[in-house]
Amino acid sequence: MTNIDHSKIPDLEHRNFRNDDFWQKIPAWAGVTRGEFSDHLWQLKNSIRKIDQVKKVLGDKISKEFFEDLQKGQQITPMNIRITPYVFALINWDDPENCPLRKQFLPIGSQFLEDHPMHMADSLSEDVDSPVPMLTHRYPDKVLFLPLTICPVYCSYCTRSRVIGGSTESVEKESYGANQKHWDNVFAYLAQHPKVEDVVISGGDAFMLNPKQIQYIGENLLKIPHIRRIRYATKGIAIFPQKILTDDKWMEALVKVHKLAIGFGKQMVIHTHFSSPLEITKWSQMAMDRLFSEGILVRNQAVLQEGVNNHVDEMVLLTRKLGYMNIQPYYVYMHDMVPGCEHFRTTLGEGEELEKAVRGTTAGFNTPTFVCDLPGGGGKRHVASYEYYDQENGISVWRAPYVKPDKVFTYFDPIHKLAPDAQDRWKDAATRKAMIDEAIKKV
Ligand code: SF4
Repeated sequence: MTNIDHSKIPDLEHRNFRNDDFWQKIPAWAGVTRGEFSDHLWQLKNSIRKIDQVKKVLGDKISKEFFEDLQKGQQITPMNIRITPYVFALINWDDPENCPLRKQFLPIGSQFLEDHPMHMADSLSEDVDSPVPMLTHRYPDKVLFLPLTICPVYCSYCTRSRVIGGSTESVEKESYGANQKHWDNVFAYLAQHPKVEDVVISGGDAFMLNPKQIQYIGENLLKIPHIRRIRYATKGIAIFPQKILTDDKWMEALVKVHKLAIGFGKQMVIHTHFSSPLEITKWSQMAMDRLFSEGILVRNQAVLQEGVNNHVDEMVLLTRKLGYMNIQPYYVYMHDMVPGCEHFRTTLGEGEELEKAVRGTTAGFNTPTFVCDLPGGGGKRHVASYEYYDQENGISVWRAPYVKPDKVFTYFDPIHKLAPDAQDRWKDAATRKAMIDEAIKKV
């Protein structure tokens, strides 16, 4: 990875935005017009929510073996299926096994690997730092508000798979819907904590809040005098741009909150979540044109994933495409150590190398920072800011001096990516503990 040949990355490829009638290749949607496909209600009504629907819409386009692998995936994954026709039709159904979009939303049984022994369901310790339901308060000036646990698509790598999207065959969850009484408790807590200036409204996904809820949450937060910045987090622009383009009531509510923020001299922005350049089409660009024309700033947070975006040409193309359509590439995250995701994870070393290769390919303000969100609640740290990295055994040790000054944190590379002798060392619990203790002692 160190000798990247940047000359292989086409200079202007990022300006090509797919605009063909790609959904008509799906047998069940062959007759669906562009007008129908553009409608957010059509997208919602035809979203895939059961594995049998995959077979129903694809017919003979999916092999018996691959469909059985998908069924097996449903027995293992911690996430339910929900996928918009837009993303479903962007999947390369001629080679679904290797398609980065299929990998993100429709897991197959044969891809799963054993979870890392140090994985955690709540890897980021969000529940521990939660003073009232639906709120995580870790940093003095910033909080994470989770007003609901549903999304327009379910990503098989979700970091909050412990609550998002309802119970599955393998996981019982305490998911929750919109609950104004809980939200009011959050607003009351925030009003009493004057150090808080920044609120991330995530979930779940803000796309699933109706217009009244978008406004209710936005207005209540912006009216708290010390809150200066709110960010609605949604993957929607990436997987359901039709909503931005045709759900006028939802857009009106968002614009009202934005204008209110400006009137107060505050910020309202959107944080979105594109991980692959294949997710970006003319529809994404048109949705961004609408948001941009309203003066709404959008930033992107991607997750580094094996077979999705862990090659420099994919990451550079993603970065440039985002910048071209006025989305600021903000973060690329190392994958969290959550259940059912070992096949997606890369080593920290790969993250460092990718960051080096991407930096300099476009303007600095449009270059994402590669970060590791430390397991155990240390917050986001730059991928090269560890205190110690035992690359042979895949153990990195970190500090978060401001967030938790007395604590050290550890992050672990996926075991299957280590050399065979290191893989053997991880098999034995006592050796494993000794390796981790030894790495921590170096700090
Ligand atoms: S959109 Fe976000 S919260 Fe929802 S499933 Fe995907 S990663 Fe999880």
